Amino acid sequence: MTLCELNQELKLSFECYLLGELSPNDMAAIEKHLATGCSSCLQEIKELQEIFASIACSAPSVTPPEQIRQKLLSRLQTEVKAQPSLKLVPMPKRAWYKTPLSLLGKVAASLGLLILLAETVFLVHINKKAVLQAELAKVQEHKIQILQTELNQKQKDISNIETSIKSSRKLIALDSKLISKASGKALWDTDQNAWQFYISDLPNAPKGRTYQLWFITDKELISGGTFQTNEKGSMELRLATPRNCKNILEVAISLEPIGGSETPTGAIYLSGPII
Ligand SMILES: [Zn+2]
Repeated sequence: MTLCELNQELKLSFECYLLGELSPNDMAAIEKHLATGCSSCLQEIKELQEIFASIACSAPSVTPPEQIRQKLLSRLQTEVKAQPSLKLVPMPKRAWYKTPLSLLGKVAASLGLLILLAETVFLVHINKKAVLQAELAKVQEHKIQILQTELNQKQKDISNIETSIKSSRKLIALDSKLISKASGKALWDTDQNAWQFYISDLPNAPKGRTYQLWFITDKELISGGTFQTNEKGSMELRLATPRNCKNILEVAISLEPIGGSETPTGAIYLSGPII
């Protein structure tokens, strides 16, 4: 393919060239260039000719009044003499499918192109949205994974705590044979040798009397001290396992004279075995 050497200004003046509206110099320059056989310019000229032809065909034909017709004819004759006629440039024969597009074809092609462009923009938009959604899903999945990991860790921690509680803590239920409402719970931390008693609904001890706590081992009964319940009949006690208190089998609460006793002398109000 030969490179087109026609200057840009003339290249854009092909319509005027075909209408014979260029200066003689420009007309000659274009003619000279076309004579070199520049395929792109020849092609353009051919297409413009077709467009002109299709415009001429689509214009409705009217019969002018005789007077105007005569005027037009005489003007045409003088203009034909004065101006060079339209240049028809011979083109090599082409297969029908290679013929240049008509004006309507061009419009259709432009519309097609616009639709294609709109579809492309739409598809790009859809694609962008899909990519964004995929990114978002990834982020959410990542967050869920983090939360899941945290949850797993927490469950592990809880299970560890539970295991340590099970191994080092004992819960002892105390009940009463004398007062059905009265009850108590004891939490024994065997690692720390610490006890917590929660007594409820145990009536206040009568005047001159007190409640006393007992640790019952396989060999003896060891005092855990005396206490009084509050106005609601409840009491919370914290104490350490008494010295030399081994193999505790049961805990019990009895009613004793103020100051406590060496061994239980009164009735047992609450008791619970250690399981
Ligand atoms: Zn050219």
